[in-house]
Amino acid sequence: MIKLKGRFSLILFFLSIVSLGWDNFYILRERMVKEQIIKRGIKDDRVIKAMLKVPRHKFVPLKWQNFSYDDTPLPIGYQQTISQPYIVALMTELLELKGEERVLEIGTGSGYQSAILAELAKGVYTIEILEQLAFKAKKVLKELGYNNIHVKIGDGFLGWPEYAPFDAIIVTCAPNEIPPPLLEQLAEGGRLVIPVGEHFQELKLVLKKEGKILTTDIIPVRFVPMLRR
Ligand code: SAH
Repeated sequence: MIKLKGRFSLILFFLSIVSLGWDNFYILRERMVKEQIIKRGIKDDRVIKAMLKVPRHKFVPLKWQNFSYDDTPLPIGYQQTISQPYIVALMTELLELKGEERVLEIGTGSGYQSAILAELAKGVYTIEILEQLAFKAKKVLKELGYNNIHVKIGDGFLGWPEYAPFDAIIVTCAPNEIPPPLLEQLAEGGRLVIPVGEHFQELKLVLKKEGKILTTDIIPVRFVPMLRR
């Protein structure tokens, strides 16, 4: 009897730890959204809801998990990083997604940005140059039940012509110039968000209107470089 009781309370103890863990992350996520996202001027309600929903800690290596909701990028291995939450929100807001779009992402990394996009668009096509990161991201995204994200291993500089044109394109690594294939694969009326530069990088918003390319500088940023194969 005592033995059974002991086991029962042990189970209860672990259950409460598990549920406390969940609550803690939700509280941290809510605070992240309030302090880092809304306070800094992100207004798109759908972006805010996606940032509240996607469990960022699932995309962060275990040893960094407690910092998942901090106001900073974090290492994800192979000298790559998951972007700061505010930058993810800002870049996503700039795409003005309504729900029916096909989005191309260059630099899958952890898969976190892909999940945010998948909450807001119809289909996400994401390319990662490092095989190990692509496999990891695929696994997490599958575990979380995303079935509208297509992950490809390859050089994102070339885009993904088979699925072009894209209504929106987001690049999360920095090339020295905007890759011409990405401009070609952007749909008429489409929006492209991309960091450009080597040491000093500028986040740029590119619009394609009546075949013309219009570029606006948004803010200075710091991304990992775009690698070439
Ligand atoms: N969006 C990611 C950010 C990852 S950092 C996230 O939410 O976690 C940028 C990623 O771009 C890295 O994983 C890096 O390996 C990848 N990358 C660099 N050059 C690339 C290229 N030419 N094509 C595709 N991915 C590239």
